Amino acid sequence: MTATIIDGKKVANDLHEEIRAKAEKLTASHGVVPGLAVILVGEDPASAVYVRNKVLATAACGIKSFEFKLPAETSEAEVLGLVEKLNADPEVHGILVQLPLPKQIDSDKVLGLIDPKKDADGFHPVNVGLLSVGLPGFVPCTPRGSAILIEKVLPDLSGKTAVVVGRSNIVGKPMIQLLLQKNATVTCAHSRTADLPAVCRTADVLVAAVGRPEMIKGDWIKPGAIVIDVGINRVLKPDGKGKLVGDVAFDEAKEVAGAITPVPGGVGPMTIACLMLNTLDSAYRSVGAEI
Ligand code: NDP
Repeated sequence: MTATIIDGKKVANDLHEEIRAKAEKLTASHGVVPGLAVILVGEDPASAVYVRNKVLATAACGIKSFEFKLPAETSEAEVLGLVEKLNADPEVHGILVQLPLPKQIDSDKVLGLIDPKKDADGFHPVNVGLLSVGLPGFVPCTPRGSAILIEKVLPDLSGKTAVVVGRSNIVGKPMIQLLLQKNATVTCAHSRTADLPAVCRTADVLVAAVGRPEMIKGDWIKPGAIVIDVGINRVLKPDGKGKLVGDVAFDEAKEVAGAITPVPGGVGPMTIACLMLNTLDSAYRSVGAEI
């Protein structure tokens, strides 16, 4: 059996079109153009690529982008001042601070200052709390995108077991909340979990968010499972060139799984699409409407 490959790029592109249509509707009805501010401090090349992709997506979605590229030596006070200015700007509905920040800047302090109503990344403790009690707020983009992909394959997770490998605040923990909301029976595994392969083998839905190239092998996967590979790892091929791989050994896993996301082209594009979706949600809420 060979797994269905879940085409995250296509799902994300379809979402971009839906977002554009809904953004145009909001502009026609209320004169509001959804706006996303992106703050990048320093010259980290990976961060620069992420920010460029996010800004490109705003154009595809009819979202206005406000880009702030600040030098690596920018002080914490300057970044905090910028966040306050953006909190007060009615044209800005989403604020994203690209992590990691240079070491002189306390990222918790910066993220904590973002108005929870503009927290497009969903990292503010207020939004973390709203998610955990099941109230509307902002859901972090990667888990939100992963949940949409799972739903495309299996809309109802009642009676299903889900295993999330990884317990970070930005992926693993919010993913657990979303899977619980979908009625899955959820296990969270991490670096202290005993017999990880056996735990993974219990999963009807397996989400890998570890950051270790191809760690999850084909024989860790329950036949027919849905496998969502969040990992993005750059490795060197024998010819010395770099390539991206996930946390799952894709070639082995696709022979066992029922459906699997590729890397690249799976969760990555969905993360960006959900950033756009969060910004759109926020713009609608700013006029007292829901999408
Ligand atoms: P973190 O480093 O914050 O968390 C990694 C988690 O994996 C931790 O909970 C850690 O456990 C666990 N872990 C590490 N090693 C093992 C192991 N050997 N066995 C079991 N668990 C282990 O990473 P993130 O959550 O931020 O990111 C995870 C991956 O997802 C990365 O590759 C990242 O690049 C990618 N990513 C992709 C995105 C996308 O858009 N596709 C967006 C965000 C991230 P412990 O807590 O015990 O240390």
